[in-house]
Amino acid sequence: MNEAFYQKLKTILNDKQIMIEEPLARHTTFEIGGPAQFLVLPESISQVTAAIKLCREENMPYYIMGNGSNLLVGDKGYRGTIIKLSQAFGKISVDERQYIVRAQAGILLSRLAAEIAEYSLTGFEFAAGIPGTLGGAVTMNAGAYDGDISQSILKAVVLDQEGSILRLTKEELKMGYRTTAIQDNHYIVLEAAFGFKPGSKEEIISKINDLNARRREKQPLEYPSAGSTFKRPVGYYAGKLIMDSGLRGYQVGNAQVSEKHCGFVINKGGATAGEVIALISYIIETVNHKFGVVLEPEVKLLGDF
Ligand SMILES: Cc1cc2nc3c(=O)[nH]c(=O)nc-3n(C[C@H](O)[C@H](O)[C@H](O)COP(=O)(O)OP(=O)(O)OC[C@H]3O[C@@H](n4cnc5c(N)ncnc54)[C@H](O)[C@@H]3O)c2cc1C
Repeated sequence: MNEAFYQKLKTILNDKQIMIEEPLARHTTFEIGGPAQFLVLPESISQVTAAIKLCREENMPYYIMGNGSNLLVGDKGYRGTIIKLSQAFGKISVDERQYIVRAQAGILLSRLAAEIAEYSLTGFEFAAGIPGTLGGAVTMNAGAYDGDISQSILKAVVLDQEGSILRLTKEELKMGYRTTAIQDNHYIVLEAAFGFKPGSKEEIISKINDLNARRREKQPLEYPSAGSTFKRPVGYYAGKLIMDSGLRGYQVGNAQVSEKHCGFVINKGGATAGEVIALISYIIETVNHKFGVVLEPEVKLLGDF
């Protein structure tokens, strides 16, 4: 343990906000991943910025995570500090007259969608079933069904590489399919503001329930995973290419191409990151050989494999 670094962390965060050698399998929806040297849970912008400043000063590698729903962490874990932005960094405020909602990065999309529905605002229903945080979703320009983050975002407050706080407009965020200026510039999302339209609360809730039912029917939600393993290649669906390559149910150890939805690699129980990587490589090779399409992982890799 790096005692000197730990003591410095304690000047910024309390004991409950600092975890040592914390297994990241507990913090990812894949339920895979070795320990993080440190994992910290800041609750305010000042704690986030101070933790990052300390890591920079001490040459301590750091990584921002949200709900870990798009991450595959290596079996050997991560030598550095994970800064996890979760519920405690998840305040919401609603401007009812202008239909503007502001929220901090750590809020879960399901909670934010439910809150937006409470105010009878429409335009965020698509996000209710995505199991990530707002910060992760803005970074990824997450989307589903008929919507994505770019459709309603107005602004994001981010931290840049030098530790300065920037307020970026929608145009400056340069959102494309799962791409954003945030990823390109390694910004950290602290807060975001969205503009919605007034609607019928009943219809909004019914749409959320309908989309969630579609997910339960089509996606292997009964198994740990990181959602769609691959990005959608232009003109194709990754799941269909994988299925048509004869890989439905194909398994490496306990990592499997879901039988329910071939676009998902699932953890059948006790799968290792090594098994998932081997399966991903095999899928890429097989689909390329059969269809000449090179699948690109959507899942982000972190740590030592
Ligand atoms: C069952 C299931 C279904 C899914 N369905 C969908 C879907 O329909 N559509 C979709 O788009 N995705 C889907 N996903 C993937 C995932 O939920 C999204 O990508 C989500 O936006 C990730 O958010 P997160 O908070 O979990 O991010 P994490 O997995 O913790 O991190 C993902 C990336 O974002 C970065 N990041 C996280 N927070 C911040 C921040 N505050 N500032 C800067 N960078 C940050 C991380 O460094 C990492 O690179 C699904 C996943 C699962 C498990």
